[in-house]
Formats: sequence, structure tokens, C-alpha cells
Amino acid sequence: MKVLVIGSGGREHTLVWKIKQSTLVKEVFCAPGNGGISKLATCVPIKANDLKSLADFVEKEGIDLTVVGPEEPLVLGIVNEFEKRGLRIFGPSQKAAQIEGSKVFAKELMQKYNIPTAEFAIFSDPKLAKDYVQEKGAPIVIKADGLAAGKGVIPARTLEQALEAIDLIMVKKVFGQAGEKIVIEEFLDGEEASFLVVSDGENILALPSSQDHKPIYDDDKGPNTGGMGAYSPAPIVTKEVERHIMQDIIYPAIKGLAKEGFPYKGVLYAGLMIKNGQPKVLEFNCRFGDPEAQPLLMRLKTDLVEILNAVVDGNLKNQTLKIDPRPSVCVVMASGGYPGSYEKGKIICGLDVAENMENVMVFHAGTSFKDGNFYTAGGRVLGVTALGKTLPDAISTAYEAVKSISWEGVYYRKDIGFKALRHLGRFVGIVIGSTSDKKIMLEAKNTLRELFIPCEMTLASAHRSPERVINYAKTAKEKGIKVIIAGAGYAAHLAGVIAAHTTLPVIAVPLATSPLNGMDALFSSVQMPSGVPVAVVGINGAKNAALLAAQILALNDKPLAKALENMKKQMALKIEKIEL
Ligand code: AMP
Repeated sequence: MKVLVIGSGGREHTLVWKIKQSTLVKEVFCAPGNGGISKLATCVPIKANDLKSLADFVEKEGIDLTVVGPEEPLVLGIVNEFEKRGLRIFGPSQKAAQIEGSKVFAKELMQKYNIPTAEFAIFSDPKLAKDYVQEKGAPIVIKADGLAAGKGVIPARTLEQALEAIDLIMVKKVFGQAGEKIVIEEFLDGEEASFLVVSDGENILALPSSQDHKPIYDDDKGPNTGGMGAYSPAPIVTKEVERHIMQDIIYPAIKGLAKEGFPYKGVLYAGLMIKNGQPKVLEFNCRFGDPEAQPLLMRLKTDLVEILNAVVDGNLKNQTLKIDPRPSVCVVMASGGYPGSYEKGKIICGLDVAENMENVMVFHAGTSFKDGNFYTAGGRVLGVTALGKTLPDAISTAYEAVKSISWEGVYYRKDIGFKALRHLGRFVGIVIGSTSDKKIMLEAKNTLRELFIPCEMTLASAHRSPERVINYAKTAKEKGIKVIIAGAGYAAHLAGVIAAHTTLPVIAVPLATSPLNGMDALFSSVQMPSGVPVAVVGINGAKNAALLAAQILALNDKPLAKALENMKKQMALKIEKIEL
């Protein structure tokens, strides 16, 4: 078979890589592709939204199957154009792709078929939209109806932000026609996950759960991007949650679309918010996610082309998906400045080292190839993806590979997969008594990060906001925190107050912030009354506090115990290398 993949990102590189492995395939083409893809497939310089030229090429080249990566050609109706010409193509029809192309269509479908989603209202008049927002209050989410390059969803924390968002979309028309109508919906909290299935319009095969990371900075801070990393499986999607997703969301959506007269063929992606085991739909997408495709397809053992063929031919019921039980993680390496403006054309070094690592694949998202070298050519540049025996193994292998690759201005998040690690019992709370304590205590956070231990840092003072401290201590366990580190200076009662209200281990870091240089903090932390135990490290000993917390967690976490051993070995090696 000759196969054409449409698109130019990391998702398409992964699709090409997977399709190339099929025994059914003789040749792979990609339009327009990228530098990395050009090593596996013949790249054809046709844009993904140039439907007519794509169909002409497929006819001329005698392509047997076309696979569409991005949403734009699907929403523009590429499947209809191809089918009209009798060409085989994987993806939903223009009508079915409305599930992503129009938020109004998706919400109305969900309402009609009782699919759990945020409460909402639809507006085409900005004044009525503003009245509704005034009535509902904030936080609230404003969504442009049509495709807006991933920027059409504005979660508004305040009423002002919500009103501004309505003006932006409906009056200033920053997204053009896509903003003629808007959806205003209830702000949902919980933990997000992605759930993808393939369907031939009737039969459904579920892929494992996954999760992406939209914001640019660690701890989900900063503006949204196309996605800075992903992992699979997402532990928040337990067997029970998966049952809910299939029963309450996927089946009703596929059946509902068929009933409406738009049978859905292709990948249906449900973006979910999960709270107390109950999933609600945030959005539907009509294609593989990018970067979710990278970890998902790395885990797929079945011949992908057999599945794609079965979808196109409508006989998916005879197929099954074989999935590698090992978790996988993709870390996206981006150009400095992304998602804002960034420079291109930087030479990429160290790719060969990463590529030669076992269980690692480097998928190219935005690269070009010239004279034997790869150069950056986009905001998201690479998706370094690893399989591991456990999730922590996959994370550390992915980051080991990432560290071997470099270019001028490279940026990547350091906490991909950390939310999943919390579910595995890795979570440390750091409490600081004052903003001036942050600088020293960041050493604890950085040490924990090096060991792939998620943590959260909270400001609460034993003297100025004691209720806040007590509340934190009382609720830490139910949040999944396993150890609390408290950093405070002066007469530091912070650790003691926390220890009085929790049975979690508490480690105090006395800080040298007073005229007594931390001696006051040391004595007031160490000399606790009987029954209120606090472990105390040395003055400013934030790093040791983190290591002690890690050692406590490692009692029930073999990969962490191994990582700690390695860290100690590295420290010993450093000492051996010092020449006196
Ligand atoms: P969407 O394109 O609808 O998935 O929205 C993009 C992102 O906005 C999601 O991944 C969520 O993080 C956030 N989001 C969308 N809808 C809501 C909602 N109703 N409540 C809270 N966050 C939301």
C-alpha cells in the first residue's frame, strides 16, 4: 500500500513512524511533513488545508489510504472531497467533524444525548451574553464557537475578564467568523484527562487514557500552548472512571452522531474533567491529540494500518487493540519564547545520543533538515518520548534523553507526568512562613524536582495566619500529601503547629532570617513537647529536608529508592573527583 499522512507536526511524525512499521505498507508520503518526517517518508510540499491539491496528488500518485492529522482539513471537508472522488481516507466527514469545528454543535449534541458536560448557554448577541455573565458571576468560561487555533477558550476568573472576553470574541472579532456565536459555560474544577477511541461509525475501540500539559510553565502556569508534554495512562482514569467514560460519553456520542445522520469514522478525542470519579466533557476533538498521539502510539502494538483500514471499510468489529502495558511519557522541547514570538534556524545538537537510547523515540514537531543537520523550524520542536517499566522510569528516561539534546534557547517543562506521580503516592507539601523564606526553600523544591517528586509550595504563617496553617495541616492528607516540609525563621512555630494537626511526618527547616541567624528558629523547632514530633534539619537545610522527605517516600516506592541511591553515588563521585 501507498499511504499519505497529512500534517507537519509531532503527531504526524508519530503516525508516519507507526504506519511505516506495517507489513501492509510499501511507501509513505507526508504533506507537507517536516525535517524529521523526511527521513521516513517522501515529503510533498502541499499545505494541509489545500484539499483539492491533496486529492489531485493522491489520484496522480495512486495512494491507497490517506490519514489526516490536524483538524482543519477535516472541518473543511477533506473526507467529503476524497470520498466524492472515490479515494480512501481515514477521518470523519465534514458534518461529523463539527463535533470539534463547532462548540455549539458539540454542546447541543451533548445536551440532546444526556452526555455529562458543563452547564452552558449559547449566544449570538454580545449584550445578552454579558447579561448572562452578570447573572451567573465568575469564574466562568467563554468559548468561541468555531476553530480558533486553540485560543478560542477563555477561562475567566473575574467578571471583568469574562466581559472583556465577550468583547474580544464578538465585538472586536479577533477570531473572525469563529466568534459569531459563543458558548458560555460553568467553570469546572477537578483533574483533566484525555480519552481517545477509534470508531467506524458503529463499532468502537478504546485507546488507553492519556493526559497532556497545555500551559507553557511548570505547575501549569503561564499561557496555553499546543501542548508541552503528555503521558499515558492517566491514573485518574481508573477502571471505574473508564466504564463511566465509555457508557455515559463515548457510546452516546457515537450513537447520537449516527442517529443524527453523521456516522463518525475516525478518532474521537474526549477532553475530560474528572471530579470524584465523575467525568464531564470539556471538549471533543475529531483527530489524534498532539502530543497525546506520541505516548499513545508508542504503546500501540497492533498494526495501525489494519485498524485504519478497518475504520475506512466499516469492519472494526473484527479488530482488537494490543497495548504495551508499560507507561509512556512525551516531553516537548520548544523554542525559547514560544508560545509568543521565537527564533527559528537554530542547529540541534545531541539528537543521535537520544535516538540511540533504548525505549526512546524522538518525534520531530518543527524541524528542518539541511546539509546533514537538523534545525529548529517551529515553536514546538521535538517530542522526546520514552517507555518505562513504571511511570517514574518512563519520566526519568524521557528527561535523560531530553538532557542530551540542546540548541540555543531551548525550553521544556520539568514536571511532565508529575500529576500522575501524585496518584502513585509521591507528593510533598512545602509550607513557608513568609515570602522572604521562598528563596532558600526553593532549594527543597528543586531537589524534589530532580528526583521527580511533585510538590506544592504554600504560604501560611503560624503567627499571622494560624487558621490557614491549621486548615492546611488538616486537609493535607486528603489532598494526597505524604510529607510536609515547613520552612520558617524567627521563633518558628510553623512546623509545630502543623505537626499538632496532622499525623503526616513533618520536617522543619529553621531559617536564618532573624538577627539571631536561625538559632531562634532551630531551638523553637527542635524542642517540641512530647506527642508533637517534628524532624529538624540544620539551619537553612532545605536540601536535606527534601532528601529526608524523599527517603520517607522511598520506603514504599522502589523506583524512587533507586533514584536516591543513584543520587548518592553521584555525590560520592563528585567528592572523589576533587583534588586536594
Ligand atoms: P477546550 O478547548 O474546550 O478543551 O478548552 C481548553 C482548556 O480550557 C481545557 O483543556 C481546560 O483546561 C479549559 N477549560 C475548558 N472548559 C472548561 C470549563 N468548563 N471549566 C474549566 N476549564 C475549562
